[in-house]
Amino acid sequence: MFVKKQPISDNQNILSSPVGYLKGVGPQRAELLQKELNVFTFNDLLHHYPFRHVDKTKLTLVGTLVPGEEYVQVAGILSPFELIGEKRGRRLIAQLKDKTGVLELVWFQSIQLIQKMLHPGQAYLVYGKLSFFMGKPQMVHPEMEAWDPEKLKGRDYLEPVYPSTEKLKAKNLGGRQLGKLTATLVQHLTERELPENLPQPMLEALRLMPRAEAYRNIHFPKTTALYEAAVRRLKFEEIFFAQLRMNLLRWERHRFSKGVVFEKVGEFFNRFYRECLPFELTNAQKRVLKEIRVDTGRGKQMNRLLQGDVGSGKTIVALLNMLLAADNGFQAVLMAPTEILARQHYQGIKELLEPLPVEVAILTGTTKGKERRALLGQLAAGTIHILVGTHAVIEDPVQFRNLGLVIIDEQHRFGVAQRARLWDKAPIPPHVLVMTATPIPRTLAMTAYGDLDYSVIDELPPGRKPIQTVHRYENDRSLVMDFLKAEIELGRQVYIIFPLIEESEKLDYENLMQGYEEVKTYFSEPQYWISMVHGKMPALQKEENMRRFVTHDTQIMVSTTVIEVGVNVPNASVMLIESAEKFGLSQLHQLRGRVGRGAEKSYCVLLTGKKLGNEARERMKIMTSTSNGFVIAEKDLELRGPGDIEGTRQSGALSFKLIDIVNDRPMVEAAKQECEKILKDDPDLSKPEHRTIREFLKTQKGKTAWSKIS
Ligand code: ADP
Ligand code: MG
Repeated sequence: MFVKKQPISDNQNILSSPVGYLKGVGPQRAELLQKELNVFTFNDLLHHYPFRHVDKTKLTLVGTLVPGEEYVQVAGILSPFELIGEKRGRRLIAQLKDKTGVLELVWFQSIQLIQKMLHPGQAYLVYGKLSFFMGKPQMVHPEMEAWDPEKLKGRDYLEPVYPSTEKLKAKNLGGRQLGKLTATLVQHLTERELPENLPQPMLEALRLMPRAEAYRNIHFPKTTALYEAAVRRLKFEEIFFAQLRMNLLRWERHRFSKGVVFEKVGEFFNRFYRECLPFELTNAQKRVLKEIRVDTGRGKQMNRLLQGDVGSGKTIVALLNMLLAADNGFQAVLMAPTEILARQHYQGIKELLEPLPVEVAILTGTTKGKERRALLGQLAAGTIHILVGTHAVIEDPVQFRNLGLVIIDEQHRFGVAQRARLWDKAPIPPHVLVMTATPIPRTLAMTAYGDLDYSVIDELPPGRKPIQTVHRYENDRSLVMDFLKAEIELGRQVYIIFPLIEESEKLDYENLMQGYEEVKTYFSEPQYWISMVHGKMPALQKEENMRRFVTHDTQIMVSTTVIEVGVNVPNASVMLIESAEKFGLSQLHQLRGRVGRGAEKSYCVLLTGKKLGNEARERMKIMTSTSNGFVIAEKDLELRGPGDIEGTRQSGALSFKLIDIVNDRPMVEAAKQECEKILKDDPDLSKPEHRTIREFLKTQKGKTAWSKIS
């Protein structure tokens, strides 16, 4: 038996046995595997995949070796050793001869040991990484074993090499030794432990390898082709079930959730629309409003993602939606990621609603004491219609009289779990609208937010002049500053942004202060007035600085990226980004969106050092060539991969083991189609042909907040 003790329950569950039960794993190794690799169970070990395979099934003739081959295995007779070089250049050399040529073997370390263990004149099987030196084939620190033709016969699969760590290596669990454990495990796994979870017709149609076979072949394939087929199968399974879970959440909500009904468009909405709306809505805004109207009126909970590029006018859509809630006797919340943004929303909304008898309030982390108690009382009594705030709104024991709508602005990190918390705030869960200006490529969106419905504002309000973006080098600094001065002369305002170096708040601060001093050498009082805002500044001071810029008491805003989201100063016409190479694409795009909000022509200047990496250069090129947020998001995804796309890192929805949703896009699409086909035909997965899927999902329940569907 390959397990030492009887595992927890029946064989079905053998995969959940602690890894310490596996033959060859003592308590010490078990602890290390947990600590170093997060491998706790048999199942974890099974999913610790090799990153490459060593092909020791074939022999290559020395005479046929050519540059470009990576790892090769040859057999031949070892020549006598030669010690050459001095000190650090000292090395041991020998030749390996077969009937077609000579391969040079080189050792820099363990020179004495090697001489003792290997015997010139004898035949060896040699494996290692091939290199060429002065046109001759060479192998440094090869693996050597005594040659025996029988040996090769027993080897009928490629040997896996696993990711490992120094500590594991010290306990004899290096990249290849881990394979021994995995072999013990995999040998004994059959279809019983790894039952097929996809329907047979799907396997056939998509030519996917059966599941148990795939697990065997991802670890111990006989050929590279089999390995690739195994990876393909497991990738598909991974993305298919991820999407299926998301889709199920959405489908079930569509079918079963209860939602408060906004049945009528009332006085608040109509009066605002007729008397207070400062502009005509764009067609895209109207379309989205309609989608929201339908969604909030049908008795199901709305869960909608609203994407719209910076400046596309999401706020007004949010406001109209909140008025709709008020018209139907419900309270609404607008939640922003930062205090500054919450305050700006609050002020903007209050001004717009001035003529209407709508009560608006703000609640943030700085709302304290008496004010706070009074506010909580009013919320519970229902005298406040619209509450604007930060996270404090859901984190605190804030009670509403009848909360009907929650709008979350610029919050990608607001995942399934956080949304679920809102459901406790009212007997029937409130409608949820998540708004984001960081456009997410479609593939990503449907994977990260697959449980949400989706609206897009794909049109900017009319009359916007395109923002001219230029890239300048550090040595043009004084010219750039002259340009800023000229704009200020014309009555405009400018932003100067410094990067945030995540690792150290202190460094950021110093960096900003240095920059600030430098800015002051160009712009001195009393001609120029500067506001500064940074993350470490007390809220009141931050707000005062912001206010002074908003009211045009200052012409220059020096800041870190705290300014990034939402801030709206239409008179600002220049966005200067210092050390622009340190910013990601979507961040640059967000920052640029702070200008171009008024009638004046606006500029974005990307200032960088002279030496730029290829990727940074590419980013600058993209920024100067397009202003379309969706195009930029696609490029961002290509350049950085999904792991780094802002906000998705935390969403967890994208932490895949095998699939790479950028490079495997066709497969992502295929999986999506299969999901939709199945759910359309059988939303409960109750048909017999979907039994395998249903059974598998049951074993996976912990992975999603299923049960939280009200
Ligand atoms: P975002 O989508 O980035 O949150 P905002 O809602 O802040 O954008 O809107 C950006 C600016 O555009 C604001 O000054 C807003 O008043 C203005 N705006 C929004 N919709 C329209 C419209 N239909 N016509 C003209 N201006 C608009
Ligand atoms: Mg906004």
